[in-house]
Amino acid sequence: MKEFELVSWGEKEQEYIKKYLSELAEQKNNAVLNRDEDTADACWRAMEAIELNVTYIKAFQNIKDQKFREAWCELEQCEIIASFISNNSSEDFLLHSRVSFISEVVKKLQSIYPYCVFASPEFTVGYQTCSICGHKIRPRNRCSHVKGKLYYGELCVYHQHDISFKSISLVSNPVQKYSVVHKDETLDFSVLNYLMSIVDSPFELWDIEWTTKVYPAAQFSSCAPDQKCPCHSGSSFSDCCLGKDEIAIPHVEFVFNRPVPNEIPDNIFPY
Ligand SMILES: [Zn+2]
Ligand SMILES: [Zn+2]
Repeated sequence: MKEFELVSWGEKEQEYIKKYLSELAEQKNNAVLNRDEDTADACWRAMEAIELNVTYIKAFQNIKDQKFREAWCELEQCEIIASFISNNSSEDFLLHSRVSFISEVVKKLQSIYPYCVFASPEFTVGYQTCSICGHKIRPRNRCSHVKGKLYYGELCVYHQHDISFKSISLVSNPVQKYSVVHKDETLDFSVLNYLMSIVDSPFELWDIEWTTKVYPAAQFSSCAPDQKCPCHSGSSFSDCCLGKDEIAIPHVEFVFNRPVPNEIPDNIFPY
């Protein structure tokens, strides 16, 4: 078994990967001792890419098992790990370790989640220090390390100190995506469920096309004027499409690279 050929996360895979990761960690330690930065960085890269593959496979399985919130947090984890790896790797590595594939598929899966409101906390930070050298970062007095870059197999991050909580606001495009304010029971996951009824493997190729589809306004007669407009504009129905004969709503089409059963889920309203 090769580390970048993983497609599931069973006992056999877990045992193999645990052993392989500890070998890599040892190899990295030796490289640091020998002042061999290239090898240390290569070990970090391989370890992070394995973590990314494993986290993505878990997220895929959780969506299949209808554990949407857990999967959502794992998809965000994937996004973060992939950005760290991308900043420190060649195109070739990103391709053969599936980092490119996972980055793309994570975006597509996030786009068909029904979550749209998030809590966004605001903090004030007293001061920051560099994780590599411990230097206290000031606007005109930084160390030589660059945030997000690798040094002997360690990622440079800034640690934040003396944090105090300021406020919390509700936003639609949050910095951190895990703070979803919806209850999953109140949402419609039929688009994700439909996709998962067809896609068997986390690494199967599929694509997504966003269009709009027009429906007779009568279909939305249950929508009150002060409710959000069915067209997903974010405005209230009375300020948007109320009074129109037809309403165009976002429509998603999946493209698979093999023939699939032709059962498309019915539109459900209210969403
Ligand atoms: Zn530093
Ligand atoms: Zn509208």
